[in-house]
Order: sequence, then structure tokens, then C-alpha cells
Amino acid sequence: MDRPLLISSLLEFGARYHADSEIVSRSVEGPIHRYTLAQSHDRAKQLAKAMARLGVAEGERVATIAWNGYRHFELYFAISGMGAVCHTINPRLFHEQIVYVINHAEDKYVFLDLTFVPLLEALAAHLPKVAGYVIMTDKEHMPETKLENALCYEELLAAEDGDYAWPEFDELTASSLCYTSGTTGNPKGVLYSHRSTVLHTLAVCAAGGAGPTNRSSYLALVPMFHVNAWGLPYGCAMTGAKLVLPGPRYEGDMIFDLMDAEKVDKAAGVPTLWLLLLGEMQKRGCKPDGFETLVVGGSAFPTSMIETFEETYGINVHHAWGMTELSPIGTSGTILPAMDGLAKEARWAVKNKQGRPIYGVEKKIVGESGEPLPEDGEAFGEMLVRGPWTARAYFNDAEATAEQFTEDGWFRTGDVCTLDENGIMQIVDRSKDVIKSAGEWISSIDLENAAMAHPAIQEAAVIGMAHPKWDERPLLVVVAAEGETPVLEAVNAFLADKVAKWWLPDDLLVLDELPHTATGKVSKLNLREQLKDYVFPGV
Ligand code: ADP
Repeated sequence: MDRPLLISSLLEFGARYHADSEIVSRSVEGPIHRYTLAQSHDRAKQLAKAMARLGVAEGERVATIAWNGYRHFELYFAISGMGAVCHTINPRLFHEQIVYVINHAEDKYVFLDLTFVPLLEALAAHLPKVAGYVIMTDKEHMPETKLENALCYEELLAAEDGDYAWPEFDELTASSLCYTSGTTGNPKGVLYSHRSTVLHTLAVCAAGGAGPTNRSSYLALVPMFHVNAWGLPYGCAMTGAKLVLPGPRYEGDMIFDLMDAEKVDKAAGVPTLWLLLLGEMQKRGCKPDGFETLVVGGSAFPTSMIETFEETYGINVHHAWGMTELSPIGTSGTILPAMDGLAKEARWAVKNKQGRPIYGVEKKIVGESGEPLPEDGEAFGEMLVRGPWTARAYFNDAEATAEQFTEDGWFRTGDVCTLDENGIMQIVDRSKDVIKSAGEWISSIDLENAAMAHPAIQEAAVIGMAHPKWDERPLLVVVAAEGETPVLEAVNAFLADKVAKWWLPDDLLVLDELPHTATGKVSKLNLREQLKDYVFPGV
């Protein structure tokens, strides 16, 4: 039967067949909030009615600027479910970028957590098309605000009963919108459909190992303000997994305590957050009770971290790769049965790679003129992707679309990779970060990975700097581990058996901190800008 794949059906199913599964949130107001999928479904329906009363029509965009919490979860389903488009905004974007995305998307309403009231007060004058702001709290916590047309979330809900039937419409209807952080130029919008979202959810849950099941207690550290928290809210609704949402505080002790209390067995996040948790685990000398599988993606995860999590704490590390344009999951780091007998070091080396394709994400690597390269684990080139939930264009942005999508229907990821005979992908570098020394390529990622294992280094970034003789040479920029002073000679001696000799950095700088992007990656663009006057010693 030609039944449409709609986002509302995920929550409707979960509320019916996993009615008692919990959603546990650390609220912005402070206390832990818990309720069931059935309760969240009722409230999502009340919210959809409230939005209809506010005049939100099918196809219109409604923005959220919010942490991971139950009200944000309700918005995911209510906005998309009623046929409008849920535009999640990353609060870590620069202010001009937030103004740009709200105006570009033509958001009709903005739903915001208490935390972001001052931010929106500062920006509202530049947002002429926004009809109103809904503050995601109850009457008791409603702040005094300069925002015109500020409404209270709980009051809106209280005015509606939950007597609402989700509308049926074409599955190709737009459901949500997310802008990529945009390392250069304006952020680019990726518009998802109901069909793409539901298919992505099914694929992620079927990929094995890292997906939610009705037995998991799943912590989404990945923010709901970016690429739909890797699809976890949808996946947990569909499977009935307990969903644990950390709210506004991203600190090691808080993450540890929440995981411990909720017996989280699976958790997904970017490497910087795992570094935070690891610090806390080392302080306490144990892992959060019941923690089994750590899912990591978004940037490279050094082998040294994989080793510590697996060897010292018995936590299975599951590495994934993805992008906003892919909804976002593109690979899953499952270990093949044939690899079960591998020695530990060999297994970590496999896990350090970016993983195998999941069904529905076709991949190829191509050379400079677009010719396909062999999948032998050696040849490297830009990774192109296509599939039923890969974006086919950017939202209202012909120029960026022309740059990033090929005429024959592939998306250019900008990642330079190898693929091996098992389909395992390894990122060599972002195409713009690769270091070109005397016509040969040096992988900044490989160097960073190797350097991060040095005990005096807490965080590392490698950038190519101009060199009169070799075009570019690697500069290693680090944050020192507590009480340590890394020096070039010692670090290079440590790297000598890990990378080719001609890859060794020409210099090392120690900074107090490295600049990060809105999604927690080291911003090499900012780092290059910060170090634009740098010259190698003796050059
Ligand atoms: P986000 O906005 O979440 O940062 P983007 O779509 O902007 O997502 O970033 C995607 C890029 O992040 C990829 O193209 C890749 O360069 C990098 N990335 C994602 N996952 C990994 C990973 N596991 N290892 C290394 N790099 C990764």
C-alpha cells in the first residue's frame, strides 16, 4: 500500500506500544524531569493544536533554539507532525549567522529555552519576519522580557486539549531544517523530508550495535539543535528506548551523574565531550554504572582514547561518520565477524577508521578529474555520496548547491578518504585541511591522532603553513596536559615510529586553548586566522 512515511507515526507508534518508556531530562529550570512516551505524545498533540491556533500553516518554518530536553522533543514531533518545518538553530553560531538563518528560513515563530532570552532580545530588532517568541517554560519561571509577543510554552499547552489527529500528507513534505555551521561564508540550509527522516531512522536502528532498542537507556549528548541529534529522538520514539537528555550543562561531573543515575548503556557524542567524561572517570576511578557502548562521530577520535575507554573501562567504542547533508549518519563502525579474532591493537586500528557504509548511503571516492578510484585502502580521493536521505540541494541557495552537488546526482562531501575492500572508510583529511608538502599530501588528521597520544598533550591541531621551499609544512598547535610542557623534539621523537619522517611537524606551539566551531570541532579556519603572521623559525 502506498502509505506515507510520516514523522508523527514514529511517536504515535511509540506511545501506543512502548507507552511507559521514559524520557528523562535535566531541565533548564534545574530539576530532573521524567515522563513517558504516552505523555509526551499527548503533549505534542496539544502543542500542534496550539500552533494551529497561533496561525502556523503547513510548510511554514518554526524555529527552536533549545537544549536537549522534553519540550524540545515535543516540538520535534508537533511542528513536523502538523506539516510545518522544524528549524533547529545552533546557539553557538555567531550572532550574525543566527540572524541570517532565521531570516533566510523566514521563521514564523521562535521557540527558545530560558537560557536564550537575552540572546533573542539582542537580535530581535533584526528579525522583522518573526511573529512571536515562545519561551519554553512555565508561568512560574516566565522572565521579564523585552521581547515583543513573548508567549509562555506551558500556558499555550494548557489552553488546548490533546484531542487531535495527526494530518496525513505526502511523505515528501519538508519536515525539518538544519543549517551547517558554515566554515566559510553563510551557513547552508539542509531541508529534510518526512520520508528522508523516517528512512534514516529505520536505517540507523537497523545498522546494528549503536542504534537504540527497546532495552536501551540512551543518552543523547549530541545536541538536538544540530542535525536532529543524529536522529536519536526519532529512533527512541520508534523503538521505545529510554531517552536521556542532558539539558544545558555539559560538564564531566554532570554527565557522569546523569548516566549513573539513569543506568545509561549507550550514549552518543562528539570527541570533546568524551574527553570531558574521561576526565571525570579518571577522577572517580570508575565508569558510570551500566555504561556499555560509546558512539562517537563528528571529528576524529584518537586511537589512544579508544584504547583507554576499551581497555581500562571495558566500554565498547563505536565510531560513526556523517554530515548534516546525510541526515547525518553515513557509516557505522561495526566490527565484522571475521575480525573477531584480531589482536587488541589491530581492533583499535579498525575502530579508529570511520566505519562501514550503512544501507542507503552509496559511496565512491574520486580523483581530481572525477575518475573513480580503487577501493583498496590505499588510493585516496574525495568521497562522493548519494542516497534516499542524502540532500539533493541546499535550501534556497543555488550557488552553494552548484558547488557541492555534481551534475550526475552525487553530493561532494569535501572529505578526502580511502575505502578498503570491506567498505571501511578512513578520512585522510578535509580537502581544505590537507597539507601539501613538495607536491605530496600530509594528513593533518593522522598527525593529530598520533600527537594526541603523547602524555604531555591534551588537544592537538595540525595546520599547513606556508614554506618557501616545500610550499607548506605542518605546524603542530597543542593545548598542554595539566602541569606538562610539550616540546617539539620530544614530541617528534614520539611520533617518529608512527608517521613518515617527512611528515614530522616543523614546529610546535602551545596555546591556552584551541578555537572550536559551533559543533565542537577545532576550527582550523580560526586557527589559521589567529596564526596568520606566524613564520617557521629560521625561514
Ligand atoms: P557538523 O555540522 O555536525 O559539524 P558537518 O556536516 O558540518 O557536521 O560536518 C561533517 C564533517 O565532519 C565531515 O565531513 C567530516 O569532515 C567530519 N567528521 C564527521 N564525522 C567524523 C569522524 N568520525 N571522523 C572524522 N571526521 C568526521
